[in-house]
Amino acid sequence: MKAAPFDYVRAATVEEAVGALSGDGARALAGGQSLVPLLNLRLARPTTVVDVNRLDLDHLRLSGTDLVLGALVRHRRVETSPLVRREVPLLAEAMSHVGHVAVRNRGTVGGSAAHADPAGELPAVCVALDATLVARGPAGPRAIAARDFFLGPHRTALAPGELLVEVRLPVPPPGSGHAVAELCRRHNDLALVAVVACVTVSEGTVTRARVAVAGAGPTPLRATAAEALLVGRAPTADAIASAADAVADSTDPPDDLHAPATYRRDMAAVLTRRALRQAVAP
Ligand SMILES: Cc1cc2nc3c(=O)[nH]c(=O)nc-3n(C[C@H](O)[C@H](O)[C@H](O)COP(=O)(O)OP(=O)(O)OC[C@H]3O[C@@H](n4cnc5c(N)ncnc54)[C@H](O)[C@@H]3O)c2cc1C
Repeated sequence: MKAAPFDYVRAATVEEAVGALSGDGARALAGGQSLVPLLNLRLARPTTVVDVNRLDLDHLRLSGTDLVLGALVRHRRVETSPLVRREVPLLAEAMSHVGHVAVRNRGTVGGSAAHADPAGELPAVCVALDATLVARGPAGPRAIAARDFFLGPHRTALAPGELLVEVRLPVPPPGSGHAVAELCRRHNDLALVAVVACVTVSEGTVTRARVAVAGAGPTPLRATAAEALLVGRAPTADAIASAADAVADSTDPPDDLHAPATYRRDMAAVLTRRALRQAVAP
């Protein structure tokens, strides 16, 4: 199938992109790894496609205590960046699970966040680490906390005409361990369920725990009950098992042709156990 007809605008500046996106039925095109298949299947029928690839939004830097990623930073760059590997290794590892290298060479941080796939790795990391997503719209810039950004499957808090320009991730404290545990039918397929974890242990006690689950609800889920069960305790097998049970209880997985909800819920617990064991390993 071919895409339905649309107008094509190649924006040269953020202002121009915002202006073009303010029209009825306009949609941004970044890496095209999700939008182009949707166009070709006619599941998306925008009147105007606004190509944002020429915008100056591919910065990747440390700013104070935040790792700042421009919306056009490609997944592969995040995965291989020494800065990301040093400051937020959870993000680098999570990106290595996104599709294949060809997909990661084109897919962008902004595209993954705006596409808001409930099984996506980047949204889960954003929710786990309390990212801030910065949008630019006709009324100017707006900062949105990750917990308020993802509203449902492929639904975000971006208003019509708003362009996502930046994602800011607070750098975890030194000495934090991390892990990504996923269940995919084939290597690097979109996950049936994925768990991302970042845990800080000091003198044998968990001082900070961040856990989020993808593919087990309409949005990435932050497992706050599980985190609370870990903090202040030694990271023993019992503590990890209670946290994993709490994660399973907090999920609201879909029943679909890929897997029944009960299976996804059970896997959320199994993957949480695996991720936490790895994250607290010396
Ligand atoms: C074979 C294959 C396997 C994949 N596997 C995975 C996987 O395992 N995990 C995973 O998370 N993803 C996976 N993906 C999706 C991939 O990560 C995409 O790169 C990502 O979802 C979208 O990024 P993009 O830059 O390609 O966005 P595009 O496809 O260009 O756009 C996606 C959506 O975001 C909007 N958008 C893009 N940029 C902006 C912006 N700056 N502001 C506002 N809206 C914007 C677009 O309008 C569109 O609605 C896979 C894709 C393929 C083809």
